[in-house]
Amino acid sequence: MPDVSHYPIAPDWFSISRVDDTTDMLLEPHVHVLEQANMFFVRGSERDMIIDTGMGIVPIAPYVDPLSAKPHSEIVCVSTHTHIDHIGGVHEFDIRLVHPIEAGEMAAPSIMNTIIRDEIDPKLLELFASSGYPPLDELLINALPHEGYDPASYKLKGAPATGLLEEGDTVDLGDRQFTVLHVPGHSPGSIALFEEKTGILFAGDAIYDGPLIYNGPGMSVDDYVVTMKKLQALDITIVHGGHDPSFDRKRLDEIVEKYFRIWGV
Ligand SMILES: [Zn+2]
Ligand SMILES: [Zn+2]
Repeated sequence: MPDVSHYPIAPDWFSISRVDDTTDMLLEPHVHVLEQANMFFVRGSERDMIIDTGMGIVPIAPYVDPLSAKPHSEIVCVSTHTHIDHIGGVHEFDIRLVHPIEAGEMAAPSIMNTIIRDEIDPKLLELFASSGYPPLDELLINALPHEGYDPASYKLKGAPATGLLEEGDTVDLGDRQFTVLHVPGHSPGSIALFEEKTGILFAGDAIYDGPLIYNGPGMSVDDYVVTMKKLQALDITIVHGGHDPSFDRKRLDEIVEKYFRIWGV
């Protein structure tokens, strides 16, 4: 077991930054970049939405609740897919939506359930390294959330879905409507949320401006190619991905072309 006595204590586990008037982004800066997912909180007139919930190292709800415009506003929690860095806090929300293909994994996570490197499946470690991520240290975190935190106590809880989202469904926040796109490739039940009115896409891990992971369990390059073509056909203005900084249409095309070259499309 790694000795954590020399690890610093993080004063705040989540960082929060403003994306635009209605949207904030949460991040876990002390998590290794590989598993450091972007989470987006979107305020609506009728209800709010949280897109993905991080690693579940500490509760996220205390960070999310104050972001609502109205106290006690209903919060819809959408999981873009069910990898460890996207569903950690899902059990903290009453409304939990996911694609049906990954509902089982969200209820009982099985792919990865540790923040200790030596407990991670070596095949996954190989996949992460070959995708272009920096090597992992002994832990997936470089600070502790509080004094006395024991990394061995970490558990990805998951939670059963309370509703399912499929291609063409709408997540309605009152004044804003997001269309659900099924975008498999990185995972079989990956979904993205597209606001037609503005061209904003919340992409999850279907596309982001960093090393994409497409060779692991449940992943498919063939599906990924279809997904990329589907995204290219949409009138997208800005992409808020599951990792790394947001980007515009031009960058979207560059990323797609880069992977098409890698995949020989
Ligand atoms: Zn991710
Ligand atoms: Zn992922």
